[in-house]
Amino acid sequence: MGTASTRPRPAVSDDTRFFWDGVRAGEFRIQRCAGCGSLRHPPRPMCPRCQSLEWDHVLSAGRGVVHAFAVHHKPALPYLASPFVVAVVELAEGVRYVGNVIGCDPGEVRIGLPVEVVYERYDDDLVLPQFRLVGGAR
Ligand code: ZN
Repeated sequence: MGTASTRPRPAVSDDTRFFWDGVRAGEFRIQRCAGCGSLRHPPRPMCPRCQSLEWDHVLSAGRGVVHAFAVHHKPALPYLASPFVVAVVELAEGVRYVGNVIGCDPGEVRIGLPVEVVYERYDDDLVLPQFRLVGGAR
């Protein structure tokens, strides 16, 4: 008799576990190549610039801008009220992340608006990084 969310869960692999562990700890971790120092997301085993397999991570400040977005109206989803915004956010560190922009009317979202990450907890296990407009933009 749990209250587990029906929202689909991210596929966690050995390459992405550090990221999702970070999210549950309230950290947005960005993979950094130990060979050339470049940042990359989504996480993957090899650096596309220098082919190094060594990496660590840095902590993002969680700030960025809306790079692109779409407003989802249909089909209705059982775990998310429509309409909702799916956005490609460009973080200040230079990597892009796909998430929802929440806490505003979808009609308020525009390309280039500043956003900040929020950690939405759905149940004991599922936490997703989402974004909200900085300052509400109202
Ligand atoms: Zn590299």
